[in-house]
Amino acid sequence: MSDFQDGQENAPLLELRDVSQSYSQGTINLDVLMGASLNVLAGEMKALVGPSGSGKTTLLNIAGLLDPPNAGDVFIGGVNASKLSPSKRGLLRRNDIGFVFQFHRLLPEFSAMENIMIPQMLTGLDRDEAATRADQLLGMVGLQARADFRPGLLSGGEQQRVAIARSVANAPRVLLADEPTGNLDPDTAKDVFYHLSAITRATGTAALVVTHNQQLALNMDSILTIEGGKVISIG
Ligand code: ADP
Ligand code: MG
Repeated sequence: MSDFQDGQENAPLLELRDVSQSYSQGTINLDVLMGASLNVLAGEMKALVGPSGSGKTTLLNIAGLLDPPNAGDVFIGGVNASKLSPSKRGLLRRNDIGFVFQFHRLLPEFSAMENIMIPQMLTGLDRDEAATRADQLLGMVGLQARADFRPGLLSGGEQQRVAIARSVANAPRVLLADEPTGNLDPDTAKDVFYHLSAITRATGTAALVVTHNQQLALNMDSILTIEGGKVISIG
């Protein structure tokens, strides 16, 4: 899928190196990230935990190339995104990064199937190819029977499973999830997490998942948090 084959072979699929980000709120300067570094390998899932306001979403938006950091570098598959032109960076984001949010953000007027087809068609795939892959992905999250349902007719857990399928529609190398189960009851959260990990392992994606759910965090390969603007490993 990627146009960016110039990265190193065995580099982590996601790497943040000495990333800093500050915001000014009125007269106050808020240093959210100060030399934050992390890496995630293919097929690996890392949890990012920590109190509200500690900078988790800030870090994820930088990792996902949605916001440029004040300083530091983001590497996707070994490619330094900070050094790319805005249009190349946009392509890298579209082709190599998948997002899952707390609220599914599916398009309400389209079916589950179409929601998974649209990102593929935006990259130039024809309708039949996109439909074939959407059908496979719906199968992976156990929702082939719901293909024609609009999001409003799906349960919260089913909506998130469609959102997970959509996030990997373009075979991204990096999957970023910001509290993907934050809106779900514990049993449904467990089920959605099961599908998220299955799809990460099956596709060899590098996943970074913000969660408040301790049980889910303990089921990932390692747990990171942000302290003093730096990323530290806590297990
Ligand atoms: P978390 O996701 O861990 O709850 P955030 O990354 O959303 O934390 O926010 C970290 C801190 O940065 C918070 O204090 C928040 O108010 C502040 N912040 C985030 N985005 C902005 C922004 N665009 N402008 C000013 N302050 C911001
Ligand atoms: Mg947040």
